Amino acid sequence: MKVLTVERKILKKNDDIAAENRQRFKQANLTVLNLLSSPGAGKTTLLERTLEKLANRYRVAVVEGDVQTDNDARRIAKHHVPVVQVVTRGGCHLEANLVQEAVANFELDALDLLFIENVGNLVCPANYDLGENLKVVIISTTEGDDKPLKYPPMFRVAHVCVINKIDLLPYVDFDIQKARDYARGINPDLRFFELSARTGEGLEDWIRWLESLIPKSTA
Ligand code: MG
Ligand code: ZN
Repeated sequence: MKVLTVERKILKKNDDIAAENRQRFKQANLTVLNLLSSPGAGKTTLLERTLEKLANRYRVAVVEGDVQTDNDARRIAKHHVPVVQVVTRGGCHLEANLVQEAVANFELDALDLLFIENVGNLVCPANYDLGENLKVVIISTTEGDDKPLKYPPMFRVAHVCVINKIDLLPYVDFDIQKARDYARGINPDLRFFELSARTGEGLEDWIRWLESLIPKSTA
Protein backbone atom coordinates (compact mmCIF):
# COMPACT_ATOMS: atom_id res chain seq x y z
CA MET A 1 0.00 0.00 0.00
CA LYS A 2 2.69 2.44 1.01
CA VAL A 3 4.69 1.72 -2.07
CA LEU A 4 1.68 2.50 -4.23
CA THR A 5 1.19 5.84 -2.49
CA VAL A 6 4.81 6.81 -2.98
CA GLU A 7 4.71 5.78 -6.61
CA ARG A 8 1.56 7.85 -7.20
CA LYS A 9 3.17 10.90 -5.67
CA ILE A 10 6.22 10.44 -7.83
CA LEU A 11 4.07 10.16 -10.94
CA LYS A 12 2.13 13.28 -10.09
CA LYS A 13 5.27 15.26 -9.57
CA ASN A 14 6.59 13.88 -12.84
CA ASP A 15 3.47 15.10 -14.62
CA ASP A 16 3.92 18.60 -13.17
CA ILE A 17 7.49 18.81 -14.40
CA ALA A 18 6.50 17.31 -17.76
CA ALA A 19 3.92 20.10 -18.10
CA GLU A 20 6.66 22.67 -17.44
CA ASN A 21 8.83 21.03 -20.08
CA ARG A 22 5.96 21.00 -22.57
CA GLN A 23 5.30 24.69 -21.95
CA ARG A 24 8.97 25.52 -22.43
CA PHE A 25 9.18 23.48 -25.65
CA LYS A 26 6.09 25.21 -26.97
CA GLN A 27 7.53 28.64 -26.21
CA ALA A 28 10.64 27.65 -28.13
CA ASN A 29 8.50 26.42 -31.05
CA LEU A 30 10.35 23.15 -30.74
CA THR A 31 9.19 19.67 -31.75
CA VAL A 32 10.24 16.97 -29.28
CA LEU A 33 10.14 13.22 -29.90
CA ASN A 34 10.53 10.54 -27.24
CA LEU A 35 12.04 7.37 -28.78
CA LEU A 36 11.13 4.16 -27.01
CA SER A 37 12.06 0.53 -27.61
CA SER A 38 13.55 -2.63 -26.18
CA PRO A 39 17.34 -2.73 -26.03
CA GLY A 40 18.76 -3.48 -29.48
CA ALA A 41 15.79 -2.45 -31.61
CA GLY A 42 17.95 0.20 -33.27
CA LYS A 43 17.06 3.55 -31.69
CA THR A 44 20.57 4.93 -31.89
CA THR A 45 21.19 3.67 -35.42
CA LEU A 46 17.90 5.18 -36.58
CA LEU A 47 18.90 8.45 -34.93
CA GLU A 48 22.28 8.41 -36.66
CA ARG A 49 20.72 7.86 -40.11
CA THR A 50 18.16 10.56 -39.30
CA LEU A 51 20.84 13.05 -38.32
CA GLU A 52 22.69 12.34 -41.57
CA LYS A 53 19.59 13.44 -43.46
CA LEU A 54 18.42 16.33 -41.28
CA ALA A 55 21.28 17.83 -39.30
CA ASN A 56 22.67 19.84 -42.21
CA ARG A 57 19.28 21.48 -42.86
CA TYR A 58 17.73 21.79 -39.41
CA ARG A 59 18.89 22.55 -35.90
CA VAL A 60 18.67 19.23 -34.12
CA ALA A 61 19.71 18.16 -30.61
CA VAL A 62 19.62 14.86 -28.76
CA VAL A 63 19.15 13.75 -25.16
CA GLU A 64 20.51 10.24 -24.69
CA GLY A 65 19.21 8.11 -21.86
CA ASP A 66 21.30 5.14 -20.83
CA VAL A 67 21.48 2.95 -17.78
CA GLN A 68 25.24 2.91 -17.53
CA THR A 69 27.30 4.18 -20.46
CA ASP A 70 27.79 7.15 -22.76
CA ASN A 71 28.48 4.93 -25.79
CA ASP A 72 25.37 6.05 -27.67
CA ALA A 73 25.97 9.74 -26.93
CA ARG A 74 29.46 9.41 -28.39
CA ARG A 75 27.99 7.90 -31.55
CA ILE A 76 25.56 10.81 -31.80
CA ALA A 77 28.22 13.45 -31.10
CA LYS A 78 30.10 12.30 -34.23
CA HIS A 79 27.24 13.81 -36.23
CA HIS A 80 28.06 17.28 -34.87
CA VAL A 81 24.81 17.92 -33.08
CA PRO A 82 24.47 19.03 -29.46
CA VAL A 83 23.97 15.96 -27.28
CA VAL A 84 23.53 15.48 -23.55
CA GLN A 85 23.89 12.07 -21.95
CA VAL A 86 21.72 11.16 -18.99
CA VAL A 87 23.14 8.14 -17.17
CA THR A 88 20.37 6.79 -14.98
CA ARG A 89 22.68 4.52 -12.94
CA GLY A 90 20.38 1.55 -13.07
CA GLY A 91 17.17 3.55 -13.51
CA CYS A 92 15.10 1.87 -16.20
CA HIS A 93 13.39 4.97 -17.64
CA LEU A 94 13.84 8.70 -18.04
CA GLU A 95 11.78 11.09 -15.93
CA ALA A 96 10.72 14.64 -16.70
CA ASN A 97 13.11 16.18 -14.16
CA LEU A 98 16.09 14.46 -15.82
CA VAL A 99 15.00 15.83 -19.18
CA GLN A 100 14.55 19.29 -17.67
CA GLU A 101 18.10 19.21 -16.36
CA ALA A 102 19.43 17.87 -19.64
CA VAL A 103 17.79 20.48 -21.87
CA ALA A 104 19.11 23.30 -19.67
CA ASN A 105 22.31 22.67 -21.63
CA PHE A 106 20.68 23.61 -24.93
CA GLU A 107 19.56 26.91 -26.33
CA LEU A 108 16.04 25.66 -26.98
CA ASP A 109 14.91 28.71 -28.96
CA ALA A 110 17.66 28.00 -31.46
CA LEU A 111 16.52 24.42 -32.12
CA ASP A 112 13.98 22.93 -34.54
CA LEU A 113 13.89 19.34 -33.39
CA LEU A 114 14.83 17.52 -30.20
CA PHE A 115 15.10 13.74 -29.94
CA ILE A 116 15.04 12.03 -26.57
CA GLU A 117 16.37 8.48 -26.72
CA ASN A 118 14.79 6.81 -23.74
CA VAL A 119 16.31 3.90 -21.83
CA GLY A 120 15.79 0.62 -23.71
CA ASN A 121 12.68 -0.73 -22.02
CA LEU A 122 9.09 -1.18 -23.22
CA VAL A 123 7.53 -1.27 -19.76
CA CYS A 124 7.73 1.71 -17.39
CA PRO A 125 8.82 4.48 -19.83
CA ALA A 126 5.19 4.32 -21.01
CA ASN A 127 4.16 5.80 -17.63
CA TYR A 128 6.50 8.79 -17.63
CA ASP A 129 5.49 11.82 -19.63
CA LEU A 130 8.61 13.86 -20.41
CA GLY A 131 6.82 16.83 -21.97
CA GLU A 132 7.45 15.55 -25.50
CA ASN A 133 5.07 16.17 -28.43
CA LEU A 134 5.12 12.61 -29.69
CA LYS A 135 6.13 9.17 -28.52
CA VAL A 136 7.71 6.91 -31.13
CA VAL A 137 7.89 3.21 -30.31
CA ILE A 138 10.45 1.26 -32.33
CA ILE A 139 10.25 -2.49 -32.75
CA SER A 140 12.45 -4.61 -34.98
CA THR A 141 11.98 -7.75 -37.04
CA THR A 142 14.46 -9.63 -34.86
CA GLU A 143 11.95 -9.41 -32.00
CA GLY A 144 8.62 -11.20 -31.80
CA ASP A 145 5.77 -9.79 -33.90
CA ASP A 146 3.66 -10.10 -30.73
CA LYS A 147 5.50 -7.25 -28.96
CA PRO A 148 2.33 -5.10 -29.00
CA LEU A 149 0.40 -7.85 -27.21
CA LYS A 150 3.11 -8.17 -24.57
CA TYR A 151 3.49 -4.43 -23.93
CA PRO A 152 0.06 -2.90 -24.61
CA PRO A 153 0.50 0.27 -22.46
CA MET A 154 3.48 1.34 -24.56
CA PHE A 155 1.55 0.92 -27.81
CA ARG A 156 -1.45 2.67 -26.31
CA VAL A 157 0.52 5.84 -25.47
CA ALA A 158 2.63 5.83 -28.66
CA HIS A 159 1.69 8.02 -31.62
CA VAL A 160 3.99 6.34 -34.09
CA CYS A 161 5.39 2.83 -34.50
CA VAL A 162 8.59 2.29 -36.46
CA ILE A 163 9.22 -1.28 -37.60
CA ASN A 164 12.99 -1.45 -38.06
CA LYS A 165 15.34 -3.99 -39.68
CA ILE A 166 12.98 -4.86 -42.56
CA ASP A 167 16.10 -5.89 -44.51
CA LEU A 168 16.20 -8.98 -42.27
CA LEU A 169 12.62 -10.07 -43.03
CA PRO A 170 13.69 -12.97 -45.28
CA TYR A 171 15.68 -14.47 -42.40
CA VAL A 172 13.32 -14.07 -39.45
CA ASP A 173 9.84 -15.24 -38.48
CA PHE A 174 8.41 -11.76 -38.16
CA ASP A 175 5.00 -11.16 -39.72
CA ILE A 176 4.69 -7.42 -40.35
CA GLN A 177 0.96 -7.57 -40.96
CA LYS A 178 0.43 -9.41 -37.68
CA ALA A 179 2.52 -6.89 -35.77
CA ARG A 180 0.56 -4.02 -37.31
CA ASP A 181 -2.78 -5.69 -36.60
CA TYR A 182 -1.85 -6.37 -32.97
CA ALA A 183 -0.69 -2.79 -32.50
CA ARG A 184 -3.73 -1.30 -34.24
CA GLY A 185 -5.96 -3.46 -32.05
CA ILE A 186 -4.52 -1.61 -29.06
CA ASN A 187 -4.23 1.81 -30.68
CA PRO A 188 -6.20 2.37 -33.90
CA ASP A 189 -4.59 5.79 -34.44
CA LEU A 190 -1.05 4.46 -34.58
CA ARG A 191 0.96 5.52 -37.60
CA PHE A 192 3.54 3.08 -38.99
CA PHE A 193 6.88 3.38 -40.71
CA GLU A 194 8.63 0.29 -42.03
CA LEU A 195 12.31 0.80 -42.63
CA SER A 196 15.85 -0.42 -42.28
CA ALA A 197 18.10 2.04 -40.51
CA ARG A 198 21.02 -0.13 -41.67
CA THR A 199 20.32 -0.13 -45.42
CA GLY A 200 18.30 3.09 -45.60
CA GLU A 201 15.29 1.34 -47.14
CA GLY A 202 12.07 3.13 -46.21
CA LEU A 203 13.90 5.99 -44.56
CA GLU A 204 12.58 8.71 -46.92
CA ASP A 205 9.01 8.47 -45.58
CA TRP A 206 10.25 8.78 -42.00
CA ILE A 207 12.41 11.79 -42.86
CA ARG A 208 9.59 13.47 -44.77
CA TRP A 209 7.27 12.98 -41.81
CA LEU A 210 9.83 14.44 -39.40
CA GLU A 211 10.24 17.47 -41.64
CA SER A 212 6.48 17.98 -41.59
CA LEU A 213 6.67 18.31 -37.80
CA ILE A 214 9.13 21.19 -37.85
CA PRO A 215 7.13 24.39 -37.45
CA LYS A 216 10.01 26.60 -38.50
CA SER A 217 10.73 24.62 -41.66
CA THR A 218 8.99 27.24 -43.80
CA ALA A 219 10.74 30.16 -42.09
MG1 MG B 1 20.81 3.26 -28.06
ZN1 ZN C 1 11.60 2.27 -15.12
